[in-house]
Amino acid sequence: MSLLVVGSVAFDALESPYGKVDRALGGAATYFAVAASFFTHVNLVGIVGDDFTEIDAQIFRGRTIDTAGLERAAGKTFFWAGKYSENLNERITLTTDLNVFADFKPKLPEKYRNSKYVFLANIAPDLQRDVLKQVKGAPKLVALDTMNYWIERTNAELRETLRHVDILVINDSETRQLSSEHNLLRAAKHIFKMGPSTLVVKRGEYGAMMVDKRGVFCVPAFPLEEPHDPTGAGDSFAGGFMGYLAAAGKANDLALRRAMVYGSVMGSFTVESFGLDRLRKLKGNEIHARARHFAKLTQFKL
Ligand code: AMP
Repeated sequence: MSLLVVGSVAFDALESPYGKVDRALGGAATYFAVAASFFTHVNLVGIVGDDFTEIDAQIFRGRTIDTAGLERAAGKTFFWAGKYSENLNERITLTTDLNVFADFKPKLPEKYRNSKYVFLANIAPDLQRDVLKQVKGAPKLVALDTMNYWIERTNAELRETLRHVDILVINDSETRQLSSEHNLLRAAKHIFKMGPSTLVVKRGEYGAMMVDKRGVFCVPAFPLEEPHDPTGAGDSFAGGFMGYLAAAGKANDLALRRAMVYGSVMGSFTVESFGLDRLRKLKGNEIHARARHFAKLTQFKL
């Protein structure tokens, strides 16, 4: 099943206690597409500037990622700079330069319009909606991620987009910010009134929690001795989560629970190295081995 994603393709400047890079390939849609491509075919929608070279585009080559929807425009690629705290649990944004995204008017290639699974990765909510509108018929599943940047600047547009979304996949601080509720279960009730019927909260080293009308399901984060860079872990989680669901072709309770595990697996790989370094080298058999490890990690008898 084809999975469509729209979101940022970016250059990032990253600083963590483990090191510093001034310009690494990144972006929400980049991490998402690479992670999801281990499970299914991905149709990528985004825009890059003329500073984005064929060497940068190599990240998408040799994978099941269609880049017909990745536009190239005159100007600079989206740029984001962030800095992590000592324990990697908090980060501050130092710079967000939308650059070519500021005037992006996405036009979906005809072959993308039948996508049944849609992921609206982190980017302006009106752009997310614009892409969704161009998908023919009713997609089977629409999920969305967003960030404090958009919650603060484009709240009304975000709420309009959320009306068309089945699953909201965001981190814990953004869940609280969007719902004005500290408690995540109460936050979920608030968010269900905005449109989504499922909330997936990414909680960094504490794992992820899914809430829907059936109840709550939690997965841990994979315990790592040396995490290096959490950038893109959330997008990789979403890539594993949606990639698994698109490949399974269903979103019942069992499939959603497994998708949570594959999301956590993909996020854990990304954290192991800077930027996209770990995903670049990743092999499919490592994914399945780690998923089995998750089963062991969480197994117990009553
Ligand atoms: P994550 O660590 O999964 O939350 O995502 C990190 C990625 O999000 C980085 O590679 C950034 O390029 C991208 N990013 C940061 N801020 C924004 C924003 N306001 N809109 C879209 N993408 C962003």
